[in-house]
Amino acid sequence: MDTATKNSEKVIYNQKYNSLKELFDDYRKTQRCLAAFNVNDSYDLKAVVEAANDMDTNVMVMTYPPVAQLNTPEVFRSMVDGFKKIAKNEIYLHLDHSTSVELCKRAIDAGYDSVMFDGSQLSIFENIKQTKEVVNYAHERGVVVEAEIGKIMGRGVKVKSDDDFLADVKEVRLLNYETNVDLMAVGIGTAHGFTPTEPKIHFDRLDEIAEAIPTPLVLHGGTGIPDADIQKGIQKGMAKINIGTIVHTTYMKNMYEEMTRAGDGAYPPFIMENVLPKIKSVVKDRLAAVNFW
Ligand SMILES: [Zn+2]
Repeated sequence: MDTATKNSEKVIYNQKYNSLKELFDDYRKTQRCLAAFNVNDSYDLKAVVEAANDMDTNVMVMTYPPVAQLNTPEVFRSMVDGFKKIAKNEIYLHLDHSTSVELCKRAIDAGYDSVMFDGSQLSIFENIKQTKEVVNYAHERGVVVEAEIGKIMGRGVKVKSDDDFLADVKEVRLLNYETNVDLMAVGIGTAHGFTPTEPKIHFDRLDEIAEAIPTPLVLHGGTGIPDADIQKGIQKGMAKINIGTIVHTTYMKNMYEEMTRAGDGAYPPFIMENVLPKIKSVVKDRLAAVNFW
């Protein structure tokens, strides 16, 4: 059943699957996309769960390595399991941008649904070698793996020219078939965080990549990408989009304001009950952009 043909009346984002792998493969085929949000603790996690409930959609939450290390992957896994009790649909847990094979393995052992090994700063051969090690470990345990090729700008990643950051199609194909990875993050011009000008997304390169491999693709830097470009990317094979900066900046900015207002009397639950709706609101706004049919 093709639920996502453009003119269909109802496209569902709460479909149940036997596995996350199946979800992503089907989402790529039917031009749907799982929105993945970086979270930091139980508060922004709750905001994402409530937003997904309101929008009646599956969703993914991701821990960046410092978050996984501070909370521990085991505790984060348990937190998400706790929130599953109040979630209407699926809440998947992912480790984002791990450059450490060991941390990937620890998250897999803790029961994460999915991990990203980011070898984009390595040579293609070293990227393949380390990604493969994570994939072998993960697949034996039914866990999905995301690889990265090409560079996603921002957070200290600076590039000199297009050739320097755009994913090379031959290398994408090599990494894909040598590692049997489940998801492929590709550098096509997007940047992490807020950018002074709109990122120029190279859709021509995305077309070439989508043509070269059937693997679901991942769009990083979701905060700064205009809605129309997000939607174009989804139609071209992006089955997962990462949204991080808008979550933590909304969290920190509003918490700072609330604490300034409360002064010495600042008390966490009273602060957070005002901050949570602000985070929930930006998450809903991004969910509406991603679940767009
Ligand atoms: Zn990213």
